[in-house]
Amino acid sequence: MDKPIENYWRLRLKDLKAALEENNFEVFLADSGNEAKKIVLEEILPKTGAKSVSWGGSTTFIASGLYDVLKDHPDLEVLDTYDKTISPEEVMARRRQALLTDLFITGTNAVTETGKLVNLDMIGNRVAAITFGPRHVVVLVGRNKIVPDLEEAMMRIKEYAAPTNAIRLDKKTPCAKTSYCEECKSPERICNHWTVTEKSFPKGRVKVVLVNENLGI
Ligand code: SF4
Repeated sequence: MDKPIENYWRLRLKDLKAALEENNFEVFLADSGNEAKKIVLEEILPKTGAKSVSWGGSTTFIASGLYDVLKDHPDLEVLDTYDKTISPEEVMARRRQALLTDLFITGTNAVTETGKLVNLDMIGNRVAAITFGPRHVVVLVGRNKIVPDLEEAMMRIKEYAAPTNAIRLDKKTPCAKTSYCEECKSPERICNHWTVTEKSFPKGRVKVVLVNENLGI
């Protein structure tokens, strides 16, 4: 068979879709970041009727190309929390306002094979939005985020995602220097708020787009 790796992951993603649906998430399958972008723009946005949109820190969101399309979208009220031309105070104000948008887009640090989303935030705006606030939430998930269970999810985040994000964000934390988590007390510590989203409530509020590609950190 051609493309054994893609087909391996296609089978895994099909099972994960079923597990997530069992937990009341609405689930979409995409072969690439570009296809995920199309699903959000052509299926999810029209279906939700969203008039306002924002996002939380997610390299997957940027890698999919969605940010470039949405930041200047002419028909939506856009709260761009990545805008580098505004002050830190304005960024924080937008993060708060983003909790009341119709559609919030982000990624996840890990997803378990049993269909749970696991996240660890610095500020908490991303996990707050996943939990409550925006009418709809889209979570973009590359196949590299899949882990067997909660323990492996937490390990993935503390041993890989958090140090890598600290390096990406130029944080003054031990992990940014050594790559290892030292459970720091740094003022710039990025590990402050854990969430485990076991189920979507209400059913279908959280939409997960599973992507058959490695995307994000
Ligand atoms: S607790 Fe500190 S050292 Fe550990 S990953 Fe988080 S920021 Fe890095």
